[in-house]
Amino acid sequence: MSDCLFCRIVAGEIPADVVWESEHALAFRDINPQAPTHVQVIPRKHVPRIADFDAQADREWLSDLFEGATQVARQEGLGEGFRLVINNGAMAGQSVMHVHLHVLGGRPLGWPPG
Ligand code: 5GP
Ligand code: ZN
Repeated sequence: MSDCLFCRIVAGEIPADVVWESEHALAFRDINPQAPTHVQVIPRKHVPRIADFDAQADREWLSDLFEGATQVARQEGLGEGFRLVINNGAMAGQSVMHVHLHVLGGRPLGWPPG
């Protein structure tokens, strides 16, 4: 989708600090980090929300998102102390309508989220 910000990052039209990539996914640093490590792991295809994935048919896509998240946590030396977040829909705080998995770490993280 040419008007989707994250599709444009996948296409290389908008620069991003890529830290990991695979056949189905791409991980890059967030432009407005909320923690010392704040990385987005996204599918290389346009899917607006995590709820739009088909858990069976899209298994490889979903698997790569989690492979990326755990690999990024390892690369960043986050050990046991990191958080994975997927906001689904505007009410949950999703601002970019292309699935992205936040990897956050490097500081104490409060719970519950606001
Ligand atoms: P959401 O609020 O949708 O869960 O998260 C969207 C995230 O994308 C935010 O953390 C925001 O900082 C990040 N973001 C928005 N635009 C860009 C961009 O152009 N480049 C990068 N690297 N991150 C972005
Ligand atoms: Zn997209």
